[in-house]
Amino acid sequence: VPLIDLKDVWKIYQMGEIEFAALKGVDLYIRKGEFVVILGPSGSGKSTLMNQIGCLDTPTKGSVSLNGKNISHLEESELAQIRGRTIGFIFQQFNLIPTLNSLENVMLPLEFQEEDANVAEKRARELLKIVGLGDKMQHAPSQLSGGQRQRVAIARSLSVDPEILLADEPTGALDSKTGDYILEFLNELHEEQNKTIIIVTHDTELIKYAEKIIHIKDGMIENIELKEKRLT
Ligand code: ADP
Ligand code: ADP
Repeated sequence: VPLIDLKDVWKIYQMGEIEFAALKGVDLYIRKGEFVVILGPSGSGKSTLMNQIGCLDTPTKGSVSLNGKNISHLEESELAQIRGRTIGFIFQQFNLIPTLNSLENVMLPLEFQEEDANVAEKRARELLKIVGLGDKMQHAPSQLSGGQRQRVAIARSLSVDPEILLADEPTGALDSKTGDYILEFLNELHEEQNKTIIIVTHDTELIKYAEKIIHIKDGMIENIELKEKRLT
């Protein structure tokens, strides 16, 4: 059973009288441990697709399954529970809480899961060391560089040990050298911890470590490209 399985997924936005189909019958599966890049130009439906894959939204028509369980008809509260346990999100703008320091930002998802505070802090400290920020635990986001902020965001996404990391333009706000470093870091998580990595982007630089590239255009899968994983 694929980890994520979209079958004939349609997303139709309703704007008054006007309907707009942002996804038009997408069939897509992602297996555990794959490194997948969803690539497409602006307006092609990437964010809409990411919302389906990330259980942030349900389809107008068709089905979305996670680990074999159809989640297409679940309520938001149920979706939120499933997301919290299974998927770590990484965003272009990092989405850190500005009033919390690195440690507190990384602990946050564990607190939502009602993890014991001591356990949460221990895990957050470990993760910040892993992302190379052991000496920045008390820093606020405003005291960190862009690359450091994204590393805090990655540590946060890993705090609940999700099977899937879903990254939306993860290097979009970074210079290319820092972006490369972040991409390399995601690849390490893939190779060393068998994390399923899904990157959604318009940037062809980000296909470097992908095993599978899903090209999306006008709300449809245009082409699926399989790549020999680049040797590092
Ligand atoms: P197969 O019938 O073995 O899937 P295809 O030629 O249809 O062969 O596809 C080749 C490869 O492309 C597959 O092994 C799979 O990795 C990928 N692929 C095809 N269709 C999809 C899909 N809907 N979602 C994800 N990957 C796909
Ligand atoms: P991308 O992420 O590739 O830029 P999106 O998924 O954001 O694409 O958007 C795909 C299409 O759907 C665009 O034409 C956009 O205008 C439209 N769209 C996205 N969200 C909405 C919405 N909430 N209401 C109406 N149309 C939308």
